[in-house]
Amino acid sequence: MLFDDDPPPKLIGIARLAAASDLLEAKRQVEYLELETRRFIGRGSGRMRSIWTINPYRGCEYGCKYCYARYAHEFMELRDPELFERKIYAKQFQAAAFRAEVRRLKFGDTVWIGTATDPYQPAERRFQIMRQMLAVFAGESGLDLGITTKSDFASRDADLMAQIGRKNKIRVHLTITTLDEALARLIEPRAPRPALRLNAVRKLTEAGVPVSVLAHPVMPLINDSEESLDRVCAAAARNGASSFSAAPLFLKPCSAQVFLPFLEERFPHLVRRYRERFEKAAYLKGHYPQMIAERVERIRARHGLATGRAPESPEPSQPQPFLNAQLDLFPQPAKGPSTARTLQRKVNRL
Ligand code: SF4
Repeated sequence: MLFDDDPPPKLIGIARLAAASDLLEAKRQVEYLELETRRFIGRGSGRMRSIWTINPYRGCEYGCKYCYARYAHEFMELRDPELFERKIYAKQFQAAAFRAEVRRLKFGDTVWIGTATDPYQPAERRFQIMRQMLAVFAGESGLDLGITTKSDFASRDADLMAQIGRKNKIRVHLTITTLDEALARLIEPRAPRPALRLNAVRKLTEAGVPVSVLAHPVMPLINDSEESLDRVCAAAARNGASSFSAAPLFLKPCSAQVFLPFLEERFPHLVRRYRERFEKAAYLKGHYPQMIAERVERIRARHGLATGRAPESPEPSQPQPFLNAQLDLFPQPAKGPSTARTLQRKVNRL
């Protein structure tokens, strides 16, 4: 408002619904609210246009420092990025209406749950939307379901997922960025510990539900070493995961607002380099993405896992000519003599 007596701005669409939502619970610093919802299943956008997406919650309590879903709260005129972690909206769920939406899907359609926010965040313990949705999917056939989460609570629904898997395809994509508990606590402050997530990988796979482990995002000089990624992949394989993937950090302006101050506080020596590299684009360019892709490929081969990309992960940037050294980011010592040659061969094939 410019002056005190200016009329308040007129809220429309999702911002109006958010403002009218009933407060259900205020827990610690987190408020749960219920959001009126006309449709649960939406069409993906951009490169996800061919798939259907479901996000039962708006906002996410886990508060990962790199989270790029914060922009979704801006649609509700909630512009303080911290409100994304403190005002959690649960979409009103009605099984009959949801079943009618599911019935409109075609045989073979792909549906991804959790493309924007974590569907198994703490709010799920109260609202149980995932469990109710999966119960509906359990009565269907011929669909291809993917669930992305970093919560061990996903294993609660192993029974329903296994049941769905008898007549559909289903896969859980569990994010584990590091096994270092102290680092995980810093970058994903309220998400379950990595050891708990690994337990969930084991429980789900033991129940017959295929699991991919995602080490997204790979943050330069924070969790990107071959040793760190290898530890995650090895633990994923030990606990039954069938695939593993990792892609570099994607830093949209809404996530940079939180991530860069976090770096200043915890990794001040990295701030200048991150600012320079992400100033003009949200994606890293240069040889870094290619180097990480090669590193992940090596690690996957070492542990016998397949590739498993979830739709939440940004497409890797197109590899730039490796010899265009001025674009190289976060240069690191090459592991072994073949890296430069391999990259050059790949670039030549483009
Ligand atoms: S779990 Fe996902 S949605 Fe939730 S804060 Fe972390 S990155 Fe964002």
